[in-house]
Amino acid sequence: MTWARTILVLDLPSILTILMKEKLDPIKDLFPYDAFRPSQDRFIKECHESLDKPRHVVISAPNGFGKTVSTLCAAIPVALENDLKIVYCCRTHTQNSRVIMELNKIFQKLDKEGKDIKSLYHLGGVSLRSRTDMCFMDQVLKANLNPSDASIVCGQLRADNRCKFFRNMKWALGKDDLHLPVSTNSSFDAGDIKDYCSMKNYCPYFYSRELQKKVLVIVANYNWVFDPDIQERFLDVINVPLEEILLIIDEAHNLPPLAERIYSRKLGDYTISAATRELGEYFHRDSDKDELKSFLRLIQDLFDEYEDRIGNQDEMDLDGRKIIQDLQHGLNQDLGILFHHLDETGKEIQKEKLASGKRNPRSFCRAVAKFWREWYLYTLDKASYYHCFSLNRDSATLRHNFEAVCLDPGLTGIQHVMERVFASVSLSGTIIPNVYSTQCRINQPVTIELPSPFKENHVKAFILDGVSTAFKDRDESM
Ligand code: SF4
Repeated sequence: MTWARTILVLDLPSILTILMKEKLDPIKDLFPYDAFRPSQDRFIKECHESLDKPRHVVISAPNGFGKTVSTLCAAIPVALENDLKIVYCCRTHTQNSRVIMELNKIFQKLDKEGKDIKSLYHLGGVSLRSRTDMCFMDQVLKANLNPSDASIVCGQLRADNRCKFFRNMKWALGKDDLHLPVSTNSSFDAGDIKDYCSMKNYCPYFYSRELQKKVLVIVANYNWVFDPDIQERFLDVINVPLEEILLIIDEAHNLPPLAERIYSRKLGDYTISAATRELGEYFHRDSDKDELKSFLRLIQDLFDEYEDRIGNQDEMDLDGRKIIQDLQHGLNQDLGILFHHLDETGKEIQKEKLASGKRNPRSFCRAVAKFWREWYLYTLDKASYYHCFSLNRDSATLRHNFEAVCLDPGLTGIQHVMERVFASVSLSGTIIPNVYSTQCRINQPVTIELPSPFKENHVKAFILDGVSTAFKDRDESM
């Protein structure tokens, strides 16, 4: 792809002022296709009216209906009138790309209609990905890191001034000389950004962070909004509170199971052994970090004790509070201080690992500290958690786990997001709106159920052998 020219990045508020002179009609001004599918105009109208009130909307519409473009048409005028950002949550990179494609069509139509949006034309949307997808440095690219470890490696490279892509970005930002890629599009996919950044020698990750501040629509996966740790950093970057976000959740049937995974916690003996090795390697003398070593031994003892009690079962209930009391009793010290100490020690280990040139700075001590801190702080007072000890008997050696399984992702986390955002749209071809709303604890939503746009005799079902949606079978292009 070639980039014809660049323009200066403009601030969204000033652009909105230009556009606010004119109130947009979601159908007449934005819908970019020549014809509607059956009921599509009704969808846009009802969805727009509900968002305008503002209300949460839950929509069941079959595949092939044109849900993505319809929802964007309904949401964009509301976002512009109320000075909001739209965050469009998808699950896969392919879905992200489809949103960007529809946004480009909408903004091209606005431009063609001669709306006073010349500047906005270049600032439709951006699709976000993590550092592991967007970094150009081998230390991140080739080390197969998870996003949190990638962030640590990136931080160290920047602190040591060893990332030229970040240096170039900083230089351009410092001179107020950061430009937008301009092709014929207004919205940018991760691939567009990487192409442009590779030409300019900018960091694609930080470049897309700059774009996030400017665009009207941010396309991201669910974790950016529903994982509390990621959400906090994300809102910080865009400098917009949840109250000023219009949230769209595509393929919303995925949200409850995904949120269940986000809010559940699991700690296995593999992590305990690795943390024990880590402490032994970096703090050789027995007296070094003695209380932390005792803590890890105590957890291992608890695993052994529960293995004796579980019999032939694979899983047994735990009293979440009782296990905390057992730890407290066994150690006779403040657990909050101990978890903090373990986490700080993990940070020291990470620094040592990076300084000695280790590719992966993961600290298992930090993982253990995080697990117990969250178990203690977030899972004990909620009726929505099930605590258990589980044994995995499939592998050659028995695997022991403590788990806090989230049973009610609505109460645990989704509700907190939904209560704060300006309004939301949940879309799917396979939800029953009332069931979904109850599950997610969405209060008094407007529900819309739409019929299939296809005649019954035009629908044929195929079952294909070898088609998989398993994560292990996915590749970059997905
Ligand atoms: S600044 Fe960007 S390119 Fe440099 S290490 Fe971090 S993510 Fe990678």
